[in-house]
Amino acid sequence: MSSRRIAVFDTTLRDGEQSPGIALRPEQKADVARQLERLGVDVIEAGFAAASPGDAEGVRAVGRAVSTVTVASLARTRREDIDAAVAALEETPRSRLHIFLATSPIHMEKKLRMTPDEVVAAAGDSVAYARGRVDEIEFSCEDATRSEPAFVARTCAAAVEAGADVINLPDTTGYALPTEYAAFIREVVHRCPSLRNVTLSAHCHDDLGLAVANSLAAVDAGVGQVECTVNGIGERAGNAALEEIAMAMRVREPLLGAVTGVRPGEIARTSQLVERLTGYVVPPNKAIVGANAFAHEAGIHQDGVLKDVSTYQIMDPGELGVAMTLPLGKHSGRHAFARACADAGLELDRDALAAAFSRFKALADGGERVTLNDVFVGVTA
Ligand code: MN
Repeated sequence: MSSRRIAVFDTTLRDGEQSPGIALRPEQKADVARQLERLGVDVIEAGFAAASPGDAEGVRAVGRAVSTVTVASLARTRREDIDAAVAALEETPRSRLHIFLATSPIHMEKKLRMTPDEVVAAAGDSVAYARGRVDEIEFSCEDATRSEPAFVARTCAAAVEAGADVINLPDTTGYALPTEYAAFIREVVHRCPSLRNVTLSAHCHDDLGLAVANSLAAVDAGVGQVECTVNGIGERAGNAALEEIAMAMRVREPLLGAVTGVRPGEIARTSQLVERLTGYVVPPNKAIVGANAFAHEAGIHQDGVLKDVSTYQIMDPGELGVAMTLPLGKHSGRHAFARACADAGLELDRDALAAAFSRFKALADGGERVTLNDVFVGVTA
């Protein structure tokens, strides 16, 4: 059985930019967008055109920078939002309007002060108003996972009826558990059969550290699009990390039966560009793109990977354009130490190597980061 192709909707430049302290200039957004196109994403959400003149200019700049990828702008259901987004998307090769409206009781009552009937009407009216003015329309039921499935289904039916091409059921607050999110998606589809004729989308946040797990559960439940950000940046604890979703699908494709168009060789470069432009530093232990993601310090692990990398590594770092490293530390063993000496051009006999290894262990136990220079300083090899 061949794998389903899952579309990657990158929202680094919209939800990712909503991280506190990030504000990208239009030309910086264009740089990221060109790299995202090389990375192989399907849709780039470039901003929220009605939010500020700068955001509208960012959407325009991205639309001009790319050649084949779809570019999206976010909009509320208000006509002025839709007009601003449509105008900002004028020059993009393929345009998508992303309209959102909350469907949870807490958002409808406390934030929107709208009745459920008004929400359903606004969903249908806004999609109908935008129809024909962009290439594709996506509608999101904001805070879907804290909404009544029956009401979400009713809202989706109105949006699909009015012409929406993509329906997103976001876990806006990062509240769902993976099995619960999958069951929720299946129930909404069961209650709104017209969803079988459109692309369903998942959009997950990492408040409980479950954004990627929830996205993969949604793929299992049948969605055809996942929304994510490079390095997992985004509101609060962030969005689902693009690189983790893409590599999980690649490594576990036989089990998941789903693939993305992401090119692994572009992941590290994209991560570094986003890190540099946003100032959001990638933690060393971050999956896939952290500095230590392919580092092995413990002696038993180092011995294993020197014999066969697959003993402790499930991905090929070369495919990702990064190198496996064997940093020397207090847990490191004789094999990795000997390899490091050989790599440094140090020719040591058995006794010299044993003496150097003892000095190294004594230094490493002191808790400092140890280099070969520290081991051999003042010693004639
Ligand atoms: Mn979000």
